[in-house]
Amino acid sequence: MEKILNYINGELVEPINGSYLDNYNPSIGKVYSQIPDSNEKDVDMAYFAANEAFLGWSNTPKEERSKIMMRISDLIEENLVELAKAESIDNGKPVKLATQVDIPRAASNMRFFATAILHYASESHDMDGEAINYTLRKPIGVVGCISPWNLPLYLFTWKIAPALASGNCVIAKPSEVTPMTAYLFSKLCIEAGLPKGVLNIIHGMGPSVGSPITTRPGIKAISFTGGTATGKAIAKVAAPMFKKLSLELGGKNPNIIFADCDFDKALKTTMLSSFANQGQICLCGSRIFVERPIYEKFRDAFAAKTKKLKVGNPSDADTNLGAIVSKAHLEKVLSYVDLAQEEGGTVLAGGNKVQLEGELSEGYFMEPTIIEGLAFDCRTNQEEIFGPVVTIMPFDTEEEVVVMANSTEYGLAATVWTQDVGKATRLGACLASGIVWVNCWLVRDLRTPFGGVKNSGVGREGGFNALNFFTEQTNVCIKL
Ligand code: NAD
Repeated sequence: MEKILNYINGELVEPINGSYLDNYNPSIGKVYSQIPDSNEKDVDMAYFAANEAFLGWSNTPKEERSKIMMRISDLIEENLVELAKAESIDNGKPVKLATQVDIPRAASNMRFFATAILHYASESHDMDGEAINYTLRKPIGVVGCISPWNLPLYLFTWKIAPALASGNCVIAKPSEVTPMTAYLFSKLCIEAGLPKGVLNIIHGMGPSVGSPITTRPGIKAISFTGGTATGKAIAKVAAPMFKKLSLELGGKNPNIIFADCDFDKALKTTMLSSFANQGQICLCGSRIFVERPIYEKFRDAFAAKTKKLKVGNPSDADTNLGAIVSKAHLEKVLSYVDLAQEEGGTVLAGGNKVQLEGELSEGYFMEPTIIEGLAFDCRTNQEEIFGPVVTIMPFDTEEEVVVMANSTEYGLAATVWTQDVGKATRLGACLASGIVWVNCWLVRDLRTPFGGVKNSGVGREGGFNALNFFTEQTNVCIKL
């Protein structure tokens, strides 16, 4: 059985304690590889390597850092097929999705920040002949990047690319639920010639690896993507140490469909924003609000299309939904279907675990599910489910839907469907959300600010925001 290894000081190494955890393939419900059960000793070793490497890497010319990162990006593309397969086995997502979205985006992340750093300029403030100021942007030092399981390599590279580009050395922790592509990535970093110690990848559990990363004094910034409860725990320990913190947390996103929308486009995209990646994307629109005049028409068409989606083998090209990431997560998602019914909801489509045949008979599959008839403020409509479960509700006025959309503790992303530019503009201003998509979903320009408000997070990733996060400013004022 394949053993995943840590990547420390440029080498693939066993965890110091020699302990391993089981890594499951969620489509077959069986262990298929072993992952290091690392602890603070491995984090310490990584920290010493990163600290040692910092002087060299931070003084490496940007062009050189950029070239190495471009090589890593090229290697991701050259290994697209293998990486996509590995992501699908580890996470349960369709191979097609990993091939078209996850892995290409990981390559883009590396390429984007490899080039962004070449265009990153600092400011100068001229005081009318009295003095001149210029502001340096310096790398912070050793930084920590902690990522979740839903878009494993995609989100892992989204964090480490800006950190590396701006001259920091990184200790990164992928999710213990989906460690494989981060391991394969460490091999590509070696092949690309990334100097030793610049990036260190430590595998293991949150409390034994993530926590020491957040508490170690020399690690000066933490970029975290994951659940809101974990984000809170990290902020509690990291804030009193005055670490820089970027927190990308949970969501409960509204998808608002007005009667004047392009019906077919809204319906087609809603299928994706509801169920892509088994609904396990922080940006999925899990609360669907439809304006009353088209409510029944939209609901019936949406339910009919949902019932036709294929839940199946992630390797099949025509599979729409693969496996849920773990048994525990499947049970959590199913428990929300029970809760929704206790709260008075009616299941319009799905609602059940899917039993597949043969090798997949122990896999964690679930039907895409639509629930109707719930109050906007019930628990099902307020808590993050993070699975293929959406609710659908009618609304009558713009004011009413804004109140309902803004009613949760989250504020990550919202989608609005309307042909009225005035309405779109008003909603864009009123929705308490870091991202508002109008007549589209998940259209991403990597230069734009990415992040949430309220309990969906603190700070913004994307473009120069990420480079700003991973650098410290020094203003130099020269008296003329
Ligand atoms: P999680 O919070 O359980 O875990 C995320 C990472 O944190 C994992 O690597 C985990 O091992 C680590 N971790 C756990 N406890 C820790 C601790 N005490 N200290 C440091 N690290 C610790 O989240 P998850 O279940 O992997 O991911 C799902 C969540 O991520 C959902 O809530 C989803 O909305 C969110 N998410 C948010 C975004 C975004 O951009 N806002 C993107 C993707 C996922």
